[in-house]
Amino acid sequence: MKILVINTGSSSLKYQLMDPDTQEVFAQGLCERIGIDGRLTHKIPANGAKYEFDIAMPTHAEAIQAVMDALTSAEHGVIKNMDEIDAVGHRVVHAGETFACSVMISQAVIDALEECIPLAPLHNPANIVGIRACQKVMPNTPMVGVFDTAFHQTMPPRAFIYAIPYEYYTKNHVRRYGFHGTSHYYVSRRAADMLGRPIEELKIVTCHLGNGSSVCAIDGGKSVETSMGFTPLDGLPMGTRCGAIDVSIIDYLMQTHHLSIDEVMDILNKKSGVLGVSGVSSDFRDIEAAAAQGNERAKLAIDMFCYKTTKRIASASAAMGGIDAVVFTAGIGENSAELRAQIVENLGFMGIKIDPAKNNVRGVETDISAADATVRTLLIPTNEELVIAQDTARLVRGE
Ligand code: ADP
Repeated sequence: MKILVINTGSSSLKYQLMDPDTQEVFAQGLCERIGIDGRLTHKIPANGAKYEFDIAMPTHAEAIQAVMDALTSAEHGVIKNMDEIDAVGHRVVHAGETFACSVMISQAVIDALEECIPLAPLHNPANIVGIRACQKVMPNTPMVGVFDTAFHQTMPPRAFIYAIPYEYYTKNHVRRYGFHGTSHYYVSRRAADMLGRPIEELKIVTCHLGNGSSVCAIDGGKSVETSMGFTPLDGLPMGTRCGAIDVSIIDYLMQTHHLSIDEVMDILNKKSGVLGVSGVSSDFRDIEAAAAQGNERAKLAIDMFCYKTTKRIASASAAMGGIDAVVFTAGIGENSAELRAQIVENLGFMGIKIDPAKNNVRGVETDISAADATVRTLLIPTNEELVIAQDTARLVRGE
């Protein structure tokens, strides 16, 4: 079976053509600068080939067409024609409370996702445009939506309710939703496989630490608590996002600097996090390099990020009344041995201890726990595309 996985952003579109059963990736790539000019990077893992093209992409429709042309091209294609694609799986960020699992896309589903636009104004419109653009060029190919929020729909009300008047939940759907669900789902299942134990009997804390970061408590395979909230702004400090702050700061900044609400929200979304604290960069590689050269604010940004992540791991464990394993994934979690070590440094009291030699790795699935640790610490590269492809195949086969 050949499944095309599409992940549409506001000005970008990532794709992967893969077999969900053998996990073979036939081709993968990225359209960037959609709406500006347009650039396609197309890779074929089997022979390591990489192609780059400048292609006009005024809208996502041209980007999808460029992907189709690349996949079927005589020189660098991997399929003869589009009929070889059995189905398309779309990543969708926000499904509100409507979908607790992946679904076949119909007009009713698109309508429901449109209703969620106010909940994710930066993400959902692009996801819907991606779906529509694919439907246009592949009108007869089944499409499936896989939602970032779905995995967290198992959270109990005590975890998702904010302490504000209840009618804002019942009338306006203001609640904690949580994101990165596909990633938390994938790494928790891999963790159970690595530990050789059924997921149903495990308490796992998964740490997706990338440009956006979130921690999730997974009890018996189900998400029961997560750090992101109504939007992906909540929880941990991130590359440019502030994470959880005292909301009174918003009003105070508006008053003292004569800023509009849009300006303050822009600061909290795009100029805060480790970029705002360090003044160096939103990328941890730059911040770690600056800290190594003695930049105190870069060091503070790292200390703050690690400290808050440490506390989140402990509170996620408390939400489950225990912990069997902690998992690190995504850009920082997979690559930075220093940050992993600093995050778990104060968690020895809970039985979390890592072996420095085993921790000195990046991007591989491995157990980095110390010999005397009572909680396993695992490094697991995430693979959201595989989950999307497998869910798509399952629904298309009617399983
Ligand atoms: P996204 O959330 O956009 O999917 P990723 O999961 O790819 O992001 O994570 C990207 C981030 O990972 C980068 O911004 C950078 O901060 C961090 N990162 C990547 N490689 C390293 C590394 N070797 N050391 C430290 N941080 C890294």
